[in-house]
Amino acid sequence: MIVMKFGGSSVKNAEAVDRVSGIIQARVAQRPVVVVSATGDTTDELVEILDLLEAGQPGAADIAARIAQSHAELVAEVVTDAQEQEKAREKISAEIARLNDMISAMERLGDVSMRSRDAVLSVGERMSAPILAGSLASRGIDAVYVDPSDVMATDDAYGAAVPDMGLTEQQSLAVIVPLGEQGKVPVIGGYVGRSAKGAITTLGRGGSDLTASVIAKSIAAEALEFWKDVDGILSADPRIVPEAKPLAAITFREAQELTFLGSGVLHPASIQPAVEAGIPVRVRNSYRPESPGTEIRKFKPSGMIIDANGGEAGKAVASITCKRRQVLVNLYSTRMIGASGFLRRVFEVFDRLKISVDHIATSEVNITVTLKDTDKLAQLQAELTETAKVDVVRDVGVVSVVGELLSATSGVAAHIFSALKDFNILFITHGGASTNVSMVVRDRDVEAAIRSLHQQLFH
Ligand code: ASP
Ligand code: MG
Repeated sequence: MIVMKFGGSSVKNAEAVDRVSGIIQARVAQRPVVVVSATGDTTDELVEILDLLEAGQPGAADIAARIAQSHAELVAEVVTDAQEQEKAREKISAEIARLNDMISAMERLGDVSMRSRDAVLSVGERMSAPILAGSLASRGIDAVYVDPSDVMATDDAYGAAVPDMGLTEQQSLAVIVPLGEQGKVPVIGGYVGRSAKGAITTLGRGGSDLTASVIAKSIAAEALEFWKDVDGILSADPRIVPEAKPLAAITFREAQELTFLGSGVLHPASIQPAVEAGIPVRVRNSYRPESPGTEIRKFKPSGMIIDANGGEAGKAVASITCKRRQVLVNLYSTRMIGASGFLRRVFEVFDRLKISVDHIATSEVNITVTLKDTDKLAQLQAELTETAKVDVVRDVGVVSVVGELLSATSGVAAHIFSALKDFNILFITHGGASTNVSMVVRDRDVEAAIRSLHQQLFH
């Protein structure tokens, strides 16, 4: 079996649901299990309902009515088979009735508990999945809606529930696998689970990817596909570099680094279970199914020739990314050279102020760090001044070249420096086991620096 996961923007309207149904239809022979997010902005709208209720403001019922309306329209457009339409309508009506009941109860109580929040947030996926199942069934595919609470077992950390891998595997094997063996296509909502006490839980925003990954691992799927609205993972942000190209493959560590360093289409934690289980993972574009997307692998393929001039699997550079609105803090020890305890004193200040440091480089009497711009900067500066001479540079950006084989490849640094020869580089890091080379430049230079790097490294 394979697992195909479709994000909210891939099912945002009738045309999108139709396109996705066609994509699934073409893959029926591979016995797909379909995991789907709430349509479009539905989860955001549910959050808005909860925020209004929490603030004691009116308007929650109006948003619920809008959600009801848009889903009823979607059913009418994509579930063309009369019997299937009836089935989908019933599911949607039940969810909307539940939503309205919860809204009035919370209005009466004047209280929104974490448990109620999750019950409300689950409504989106509990509607999108039956609609997609109905759309598939209308095309003659034997698709069945599966209630996510029957499969995804979690703890009761509402809003960020953690999957119980053992129980989820058991339930997946009991519920999903038999359906596949009968030639059916199970369609399940992502993001939603159930705690041991029987309460509805959610896995945190964007959690449908985790659902897909955990199910793929549980059923030992042959492949896992994340269908999004971009051509996989690109060599740079296409808004900055129009000629950025999709990568054929990257490693899990590269995907992780890209997320930490400012971009990333996938949250690494969500794909980890599947990658660790050795399941081939691919990010694909539901709006351009002909494009192969990007594969995410556990390791670099061995025996590849390493070449700094490329972005494909096995090449040194995977992608270029950046973080804007950063701050560079330069610290010079005011003590004698060689005095011990300088690092400790400095980092105690960061710790006390709960400021997280991104990049760091040190020499005997100097420490340089980068961090996200924060309103605690003045306080940080004041407290650090007790230990060091402090020099703060605001409005900088950190540009990172990411690639797992950077340290093992000769010549990359030459390419990077040559690309940046006209820029003022304020700081540069590349740790020993590091999969990135990161440079700090003035924020106004970030885009030009990325374009120049891309030109040099990907042509
Ligand atoms: N619908 C949820 C969200 O928007 C979960 C997901 O889409 O992955 O956060
Ligand atoms: Mg979403």
